[in-house]
Amino acid sequence: MSGFGKVYLIGAGPGDPGLLTLRGKEIIEKADVVVYDRLVSPAILGFCNPKAKMVDVGKMPTHHKVKQSEINKLLVQFAGEFPGGVIARLKGGDPFVFGRGGEEALELVAAGVEFEVVPGITSAISVPAYAGIPVSHRGIATSFHIITGHEKVDERVCHPESKAKDPGQNLSLDFDALAHCPGTLIFLMGIANMDFIAKRLMDCGKDPKTPLAFIEKGTTPYQRTVMATLETAAETLVRENVTAPAITIMGGVVELGKSLAWKKNLPLSGKRLVVTRAAKQASGISARLTALGAEVIETPMIETKTLDCPLIACHPESKTKDPDQNCFADFNSLVNFDILAFTSTNGVESFFRQLLASGRDIRELAGKNIASVGKITEKKLLEYGIRCDYVPEDHTGEGLGRLLRDVVNKEERVILSGERSSESKDLIESRILLLQGNLADDTLLKLLPQATRWVVYETLPVAELPEWKREAVESADAIVFASTSAVENFCSVILSGERSSESKDLNRESLTTPASCSPRLAFCIGRMTESAARKHGFETVTSDETTMDSLVKKIVEHYKKES
Ligand code: SAH
Repeated sequence: MSGFGKVYLIGAGPGDPGLLTLRGKEIIEKADVVVYDRLVSPAILGFCNPKAKMVDVGKMPTHHKVKQSEINKLLVQFAGEFPGGVIARLKGGDPFVFGRGGEEALELVAAGVEFEVVPGITSAISVPAYAGIPVSHRGIATSFHIITGHEKVDERVCHPESKAKDPGQNLSLDFDALAHCPGTLIFLMGIANMDFIAKRLMDCGKDPKTPLAFIEKGTTPYQRTVMATLETAAETLVRENVTAPAITIMGGVVELGKSLAWKKNLPLSGKRLVVTRAAKQASGISARLTALGAEVIETPMIETKTLDCPLIACHPESKTKDPDQNCFADFNSLVNFDILAFTSTNGVESFFRQLLASGRDIRELAGKNIASVGKITEKKLLEYGIRCDYVPEDHTGEGLGRLLRDVVNKEERVILSGERSSESKDLIESRILLLQGNLADDTLLKLLPQATRWVVYETLPVAELPEWKREAVESADAIVFASTSAVENFCSVILSGERSSESKDLNRESLTTPASCSPRLAFCIGRMTESAARKHGFETVTSDETTMDSLVKKIVEHYKKES
């Protein structure tokens, strides 16, 4: 092995995370360093190894952009700092299509650093495809040409035969050849120079009526197609305020976009939503919001960890409180319980993991009654082949506590077998086992003081957000909160990040509350979450029921009303 790590020049595709290649994903999941560009979407950065050093070399527009020569040097430097490591150079589209990947590769070769190219889906072809425009079509276009609409003076390629000699423009394209080319013309980075490009093409004989389309932020939830012709291109651009990144495509194929535009404008198109659930739980709601057109930034505020073995929680009000009781639970004692109550999907998963690890299986639960706080936990239990006997109508901890109290009070036969019918309420209640996380509040224990609680998982707050995620969060339209702890952690993480970036960057506006810098709108599950969010200055929209379905419905309704 050389004393270097290996550098991967990876194309991240045009924006839609689904267009990242399998190979690209595989590398960034294990990379030690990720050097990424501005056009790489946050959803793709979310696939990166959470421990990777993330280096943004494309900060725009307020921060200065790292020069290409510096990027080249950085790659060699990181390869030296991580011998045997993986350095991912992540670029928008394809690394070798106006991506300057070739220059980086040359520098790596010169330094003796091993590298691999992972091609990406170029925006030049995929963005038109997402707008329903095939770049070639039988009988319309037999070739297509990808052209840069922007060059720096020192980057110009000399075309001795070019008639384009406007010294005011940083473009050395052979407009004469382009104007006479019958194929589809696709300009990247051409928005700023479009006036000039269109004029030069027409001067050189290209038909002013040539159909043309601008496709802005293609393949992302913000995609927009604006149709024009060569002669109306410049005015359309200004009138419609087309902004980068955008592609300009010219030729007869553009007309096909009128009948083939397949990408629907969805209810949440153009909305960036932050989902603050733990990664595993987030995927359900994230997938639903994404399917509705939103860009979702998954930002878990807590991480949950299954304990190796359940702990018996200290009973705050128990008469039988034993100071040494905060110890490992014994699965043999499961026989003493008639009702097992779960208050989260994490609780379910952790409990069954521990049960299996102890060498047992679900037969240990034979004959027991199972209670769940709500529908999501109930569904999770079904995955383990278990139906719930008790689910409170209001899906709250308090509701569950009251429901189980009723069961105890009525001395129902579900708990009491004939011979035990004379048992006291306390004894019946002591046959209830609560399976919860370390941060579960005491609501259930207060209502059921004789019950036993096993702590099956612990919840750790996320201490800080990586810079790229903070930026994505700050530019979002709203935050989705499913618990009070998510609200509290979010606010403290955002505030602590502000403090550290303020000390780094004195020009940054000084901010006192997280809600003043990040989105002010919070979509909440449950009234408790709502009041925590309000306390921190968020405007809130709260689901009618404490289910994700209800929340998603509410989010869609909110934006429908707004538009
Ligand atoms: N290597 C990239 C191109 C980099 S040049 C690729 O293969 O796609 C950057 C230009 O690409 C932008 O100015 C814009 O013209 C185009 N581009 C990249 N992503 C785009 C997107 N999602 N929508 C529209 N244009 C895009």
